[in-house]
Amino acid sequence: MTHPGLDRARVRDATLRLALPLARRVGDSHLIDDPELLAAFGKDESHVPPATPDLVLKAQSEAHVIAALQLAAEYGVPVVPRGAGTGKSGGAIPIVGGLVLDTTALNQVLDVDRHNLLAVVQPGLITGDFQAHLEGLGLFYPPDPNSLETCTLGGNAAHNAGGPRAFKYGVTRNYVMATRTALMGGDVLATGTRTIKRAAGYDLTSLLVGSEGTLGVFTELTLRLVVQPTHLSTLLICMGDEPAAGRAIAQIIAAGLVPRVLEFMDGTLVQVLREEGVSAIAPGTGALILAEIDGTSETQVEADTLELAERCEDAGALQVLMARHGAEREQLWAARRLLSEAIKSRGKYKVSEDIVVPRAAADELLQGLRALNEKHSALVAAYGHAGDGNFHVNILWDDPDYRPDAVVDDVFALVWSLRGTITGEHGVGLSKKAYLPKEQSAPLIDAQRRIKHALDPLGLLNPAKIFAP
Ligand SMILES: Cc1cc2nc3c(=O)[nH]c(=O)nc-3n(C[C@H](O)[C@H](O)[C@H](O)COP(=O)(O)OP(=O)(O)OC[C@H]3O[C@@H](n4cnc5c(N)ncnc54)[C@H](O)[C@@H]3O)c2cc1C
Repeated sequence: MTHPGLDRARVRDATLRLALPLARRVGDSHLIDDPELLAAFGKDESHVPPATPDLVLKAQSEAHVIAALQLAAEYGVPVVPRGAGTGKSGGAIPIVGGLVLDTTALNQVLDVDRHNLLAVVQPGLITGDFQAHLEGLGLFYPPDPNSLETCTLGGNAAHNAGGPRAFKYGVTRNYVMATRTALMGGDVLATGTRTIKRAAGYDLTSLLVGSEGTLGVFTELTLRLVVQPTHLSTLLICMGDEPAAGRAIAQIIAAGLVPRVLEFMDGTLVQVLREEGVSAIAPGTGALILAEIDGTSETQVEADTLELAERCEDAGALQVLMARHGAEREQLWAARRLLSEAIKSRGKYKVSEDIVVPRAAADELLQGLRALNEKHSALVAAYGHAGDGNFHVNILWDDPDYRPDAVVDDVFALVWSLRGTITGEHGVGLSKKAYLPKEQSAPLIDAQRRIKHALDPLGLLNPAKIFAP
């Protein structure tokens, strides 16, 4: 269902023909065609090899986005929407060349409506900047991907990004109330409403969120907000081993506690953190839990914090550290924040998967991963959002000739055996599209292809993503 002309040379040719009429509509200064500068728009934070686009438009307005999509349809040019390029599945890589539509200059907060607890933003706004803006107003936008200092809200919506706080607050999809979305050809859909409830027609807002830039380009997002919690406590809990950590997490959930963060780090990572000099780890620790409780009632936060600590002690905690204020809380977070970089010391090469299993299967998953460590010569280490069953499984090795494919296959087979899914946050993009048919049935994939065809009949918007040919 891709456009028949998506051959690399023909795409380049078509893009060069589009450049002049596009420059007339948007102005020369927003277009980039210098080969040295183009390369920066051909990669993201995945392991997918980069691919250089033929042209980049740094859109300054919705009208620029519309102009690009009208001309792209007319000239048969593929268009890849792009935010900050922090994606981890190759979603923003222009694999067949063509035009990259950079949305980072569309970075304004258009409205904050505190009575209705919502904000209207442009898609290129950096997530952390938006959160900082709201903080001064006593408001809160919970989704917190670990890349929040650099990634954009448009990229978050395209990938349905989550983060540590998803256990209590949910993921991006739970916050996108409405969008303005430009389709290939230039039509703009105003989807969703400013209301809490809606039942009119199909829920296209939810469909567009998580569609990885393959169905439309967000030009505006209306986001739900909550009131800023006023009280917070952070706990770092040292457990003797991974099964004990699993028991503690199960007891926390069974007790009806809803910490906003419930993160897990396995035994290998504990060792890495020790070597990095993290002092808060008790002797004998074989797994760590990081939890955070928030709320607007000090008494409730205090009570929940103590109960969470008790549940962990019942499950055999070796040490429970608690902090309620800025710098102390940051010290406890240090272990978690260090992880992504620290783990690189364990192998010259690394791939990282972001699988999800039903919460109650977390124990079995961790056991299975330990078995893979024995079976393969690569190191397999896991950390992540245990409260959601969403784990980042890191595969590390040193030998440049080693291929991790067999380990990845085994990790995914384990995940499917537990009725889980291959991605909870990073999307399919290019890196996982070969695996999608193993997770989803042919009719289900076919239904999604037909949706894609209905909204992008020429197959020009972010082509070759999600679905294998
Ligand atoms: C260190 C690090 C930590 C991370 N931690 C997390 C995490 O905790 N949770 C998580 O979910 N992800 C995480 N990520 C992945 C990544 O940051 C997210 O996927 C993020 O949402 C991507 O945003 P971006 O602006 O960089 O988008 P890009 O990488 O530029 O694009 C991602 C996808 O969105 C599409 N897109 C971008 N803008 C638009 C638009 N306006 N309209 C339509 N489609 C668009 C692109 O076509 C592409 O398919 C992490 C990445 C890094 C490098």
